[in-house]
Amino acid sequence: MKKDFAGNILKITIGVIFVISLIVVIRQFFFSTSGTYALIYQDNVLLHKIDLTKTSESMEFTIDYNSDTVTGYNTICVKDGAIGIVDADCPDKVCEHMGMTSSTHFPITCLPHKLVIQIVDDSEVPSDSPDIISH
Ligand SMILES: [Zn+2]
Repeated sequence: MKKDFAGNILKITIGVIFVISLIVVIRQFFFSTSGTYALIYQDNVLLHKIDLTKTSESMEFTIDYNSDTVTGYNTICVKDGAIGIVDADCPDKVCEHMGMTSSTHFPITCLPHKLVIQIVDDSEVPSDSPDIISH
């Protein structure tokens, strides 16, 4: 009897762990991996707010960067609900290699040009942000 009891506890524990991990995976998949808005910051200033769900056709635009020591550009592409930097003249090209994304987990960043593209859900969109690009 005692052995059965221990076995049942083990089965229940495994079952509970399985259910919890399933919930976590489902939550991540439906609620946090894919955002709806892309916020583009340069030097901590919000430049663009783009509704990724409304971009049916792909579009590209360039953001220039000018500081005392650095000048450059990043060409940003929005396509199929995802955003990415497709061209840049920064020295490391890390931003370009990040590719297209709609994930809220990792922002796309270009350190040399102080550019950050953050993807957020509706609830996280700042209300007073500029809505320059919307289709
Ligand atoms: Zn870069």
